[in-house]
Amino acid sequence: MKLLEDRIREDGVVLAGDVLKVNQFLNHQIDPALMYALGQEFSRLYKEEKVTKILTVESSGIAPAIMTGLLMHVPVVFAKKQKSSTLNGGLYTAKVYSYTKQVENTIAVDTKFLNAADNVLIVDDFLANGQAVTGLLDICKLAHAQVAGVGIAIEKSFQKGADLIRDRGVRLESLARISSFEGNKVHFVGSTEN
Ligand code: 5GP
Repeated sequence: MKLLEDRIREDGVVLAGDVLKVNQFLNHQIDPALMYALGQEFSRLYKEEKVTKILTVESSGIAPAIMTGLLMHVPVVFAKKQKSSTLNGGLYTAKVYSYTKQVENTIAVDTKFLNAADNVLIVDDFLANGQAVTGLLDICKLAHAQVAGVGIAIEKSFQKGADLIRDRGVRLESLARISSFEGNKVHFVGSTEN
């Protein structure tokens, strides 16, 4: 998606450890018009899928997820990060290792917000090693919900998450696909402007 790629080129900052900082428009300050455009693209890509719910994880996935839910006319559920995995009555939980924070979190969704009648579109800001999305897929499995697919704003295609999701037979649509950070610059898959 050219709009997103252009914005990443303009405002993205490449940090050590293959981390892209996008605090200008996604992870701290949020550009609502850009988030709306991401929502339009996800809803266009998945319009045939009879999606009943958008599922994301707090906090950075919420902005693109909520715009997608608005445009697809379905509720948005965000998994909450918990410090402890005890006292989990009434919750679907999964363990997720955080790429950027290097800690393991338990993520949880109340059982009343996801069930076997749901066809879920998972939305997140970044895809790196696929831990967050795998946790969300595990939660859908616990709820016996169908998964229509995964929508990612920024995929780091050189890391293993994209293959992991596709290997599970799940449709993946990423709006910006980064092939490398060579020379501390962002290079996109298939772009001639690299
Ligand atoms: P994964 O679980 O796929 O390894 O990593 C995805 C999660 O880690 C995303 O939800 C995002 O919050 C965070 N993340 C991974 N890579 C980056 C990155 O390069 N920049 C930022 N800002 N967040 C990232």
